Amino acid sequence: MLSQLIYTSQAHEDLTPEALQAIALAAARNNARVGVSGLLIYDQGCFLQVMEGEDAVILALYQRLKKDTRHTNVVKLIHEPIAQRRFAQWNMGLAAPKLGVQAEVGTVGLSTWSELLASHALQNLTEDRVRTVLDAFTQGRWHHHVVMRSADAVPPTRNAKDPALFIPGRQLSPAYREVLPASGPLFAFQPIVDFLTRRVSSYEALLRGPGGESPHSVLGAFTGEALHRFDLTSKVAALSIAQQLGTDARLSLNLLPKSLLADVNAVDFLVQAAARHGFTPDRIVLEVTEEEAITDPDMFADAVKRVRSAGMRVAIDDFGAGFAGLSLLADFQPDKLKIDRCIVQNVHESGPRQAIVRAIVEFCYCLGIVVVAEGVETVEEFNWLRRAGVNRIQGFLIARPALCALPPVQWQG
Ligand code: C2E
Ligand code: MN
Ligand code: MN
Repeated sequence: MLSQLIYTSQAHEDLTPEALQAIALAAARNNARVGVSGLLIYDQGCFLQVMEGEDAVILALYQRLKKDTRHTNVVKLIHEPIAQRRFAQWNMGLAAPKLGVQAEVGTVGLSTWSELLASHALQNLTEDRVRTVLDAFTQGRWHHHVVMRSADAVPPTRNAKDPALFIPGRQLSPAYREVLPASGPLFAFQPIVDFLTRRVSSYEALLRGPGGESPHSVLGAFTGEALHRFDLTSKVAALSIAQQLGTDARLSLNLLPKSLLADVNAVDFLVQAAARHGFTPDRIVLEVTEEEAITDPDMFADAVKRVRSAGMRVAIDDFGAGFAGLSLLADFQPDKLKIDRCIVQNVHESGPRQAIVRAIVEFCYCLGIVVVAEGVETVEEFNWLRRAGVNRIQGFLIARPALCALPPVQWQG
């Protein structure tokens, strides 16, 4: 299968036209051997490379390239099957718009950006995705996100922006543990850390069975009305355990949207339960997933109005994992938006994920919505998200959920 792969990366050091030509020439020789054609663009310390050829060859080449120490921050923008090559005439075309690299001979097509634009290759590429991505790159759209000066480029484990952070955890007192109902629902707590204020902005309460069973299995025992009644009333246990643990952070509670809708008194019920356990409404965040929220947008909008007028906050959970997120946001703006783990995972090396997160951050900034990234597991994801302007982070990297306890936050910085 013929395929095409486009990535961007950052050069380890500023390159002279000669150094650049040497790189392209060596690459062209290698590409000729394995039947790969393509194009390399160098602009202000950043590379964009297009490779096309047999998919297995392209993938093997990309794996090798990722380990090449002459560049860092390798981000894959596109990898897809193609019917025909766009750059069949070049084993490695080269263009460096600012350096004015001159046309050369042999298997390497070398040109300035304007020469490249005028070239036969690009002339044939109107309305082609490659052409659009090239334009976006040369406009600098992919630059500031990969830019990280070589001094702090490797390794990304220490970050002056986010020095070490320690927030102690809390355990239940043995006395309270005894009075917990033996058969009732329990909750695990996981912090959402705000790296701007360097505090826990909220602890999310995650449902568990009496033996620590998953929310899926606990909720799975119920259907219909009973499910929604259980979902709602279980929150009393979450509030009670949180009160015993003692914290002045917010408490985030997960609810099926229908659990809010099924009972007209649901909002009052939650406000009163919260008050009994020392939580004012502004310290309660209700998390609902977009997928569920959208099944009945009108009823959902009504419920949200009640939640807001009671003074509680609303978060859209798992944003990006469902179906109709954007149309939901057109009519309703939550206080918080939690970007799903499927978008967060490996964001540091995925162009599409980066473009999505940047769009979400921009959108939320303009509308005053707080962005949270959930499921952050690696330092590389963390660093990229922080640089993209996401300040609130939740995930195993920061702290795993702890059953009936507030886990300590230990950020190495
Ligand atoms: P959620 O609200 O998106 O909660 C986050 C889930 O991701 C939790 O799973 C948490 O343990 C897990 N998680 C957190 N950080 C990471 C990470 O870095 N990597 C990975 N792989 N996972 C991470 P959990 O506790 O199994 O909950 C699953 C889902 O069950 C929740 O997803 C939520 O939608 C639902 N849920 C939890 N409690 C309740 C509840 O009281 N009522 C309702 N209706 N649903 C609940
Ligand atoms: Mn949640
Ligand atoms: Mn979630």
